[in-house]
Amino acid sequence: MMTTASRFAPPSRLLLGPGPSDVHPRVLDALSQPLVGHLDPAFLGLMDELKRRLRAVFRTENELTFAVSGTGSAGMEACLVNLLEEGDEAVVMVNGEFGRRMTDIVARCRAQPRPYEVPWGRAVEPADVEKALSQAKRPKIVALVHAETSTGAESPVAEIAPIVARSGALFVLDTVTSLGGCPVEIDAWKVDACYSGTQKCLSCPPGLAPVTFGARAREAIRDRRSKVQSWYLDVTMIEKYWGAERVYHHTAPISMSYALAEALRLVEEEGLSARFARHRRNHLSLAAGLEAFGFRFVVEPARRLWMLNSVFLPTLAPGQDEAGLRRRLLDEFGIEVGGGLGEFKGKIWRVGLMGESSRREKVLRLLSALEKVLPDAGVAVRPGSALAAAEQCA
Ligand SMILES: *Cc1c(COP(=O)(O)O)cnc(C)c1O
Repeated sequence: MMTTASRFAPPSRLLLGPGPSDVHPRVLDALSQPLVGHLDPAFLGLMDELKRRLRAVFRTENELTFAVSGTGSAGMEACLVNLLEEGDEAVVMVNGEFGRRMTDIVARCRAQPRPYEVPWGRAVEPADVEKALSQAKRPKIVALVHAETSTGAESPVAEIAPIVARSGALFVLDTVTSLGGCPVEIDAWKVDACYSGTQKCLSCPPGLAPVTFGARAREAIRDRRSKVQSWYLDVTMIEKYWGAERVYHHTAPISMSYALAEALRLVEEEGLSARFARHRRNHLSLAAGLEAFGFRFVVEPARRLWMLNSVFLPTLAPGQDEAGLRRRLLDEFGIEVGGGLGEFKGKIWRVGLMGESSRREKVLRLLSALEKVLPDAGVAVRPGSALAAAEQCA
């Protein structure tokens, strides 16, 4: 007799962690559409639509704009392996986990990483970049994380960009968490190479990494002395598949491409500025609620990310810890919030309000759940006060 294995039934969750974020039903629906071949004229049309829509969110005219098959880290690796060769000097601004990850990839390219460390929880400021550049000789790139998801800090790219431009180095920017949630201006900031991900503020499942390369970056790739060390991520080959030639390189993730196109249609329907305003408003509302409970923000107000709230917990009763509280939110309320990473492990929470997760009712649902669990962990709460503080800001 044939038996049918029962399929995986995911529990119902409200995703308020550092990603993935909640996905709109229209995006889930797009994922269940029938497959077509990856060279089908209909699919090639969808690839062209993706390029056009990605240029719109990146705010760029860059021809070489597409989605790498892989998550945000694949986008990071794609930018670095294509631009760097053995011996190249690379300044990497490090104020959290993702700057560290870039440094690791730079070293694996056999390039020379020049990491410049900034304390966790602080943004990278223009003066930091000046100093990092003064300690380097002739860096080929300067790499920066716009929104450091491990700490919740936003670095002021608009102020940093002219400093990088003056140095002559290529500017590589990580916008995995910022894209679709706060202003990202690839052309105005003269960013040469930029990568992002789908599962943060674009609210699509993880699996693709939008990237864009400007003219100077393409020149640097063309002038390489050696082949790109990764076959899969070599943009000189991938661009022939995404460009007019349509030369097979690898099979594009068909269903994920449907999903990303739908997620980007949702972004267009809402409009970028309305979307940013929504992220800002819900952040301020959540911040007011969390502070009323006694949470303290890791980052100074002017540098806080709207989509990722990193907070120290109020003092808990002996025997209680942050992981236990997060587990209760998950088990009893179906709410996921993130814990700390690296230096902040066990010390902070990271509450994500990314894309579809940045909704007023979701902020209120988290605050109501906290009002129920915090007293059991020894935190005194005045009933209704956090919700009232949040409502006042909404
Ligand atoms: C999430 C994230 C990444 C890595 O993306 P994955 O999709 O997890 O591979 C890189 N940089 C930043 C800033 C991120 O937040």
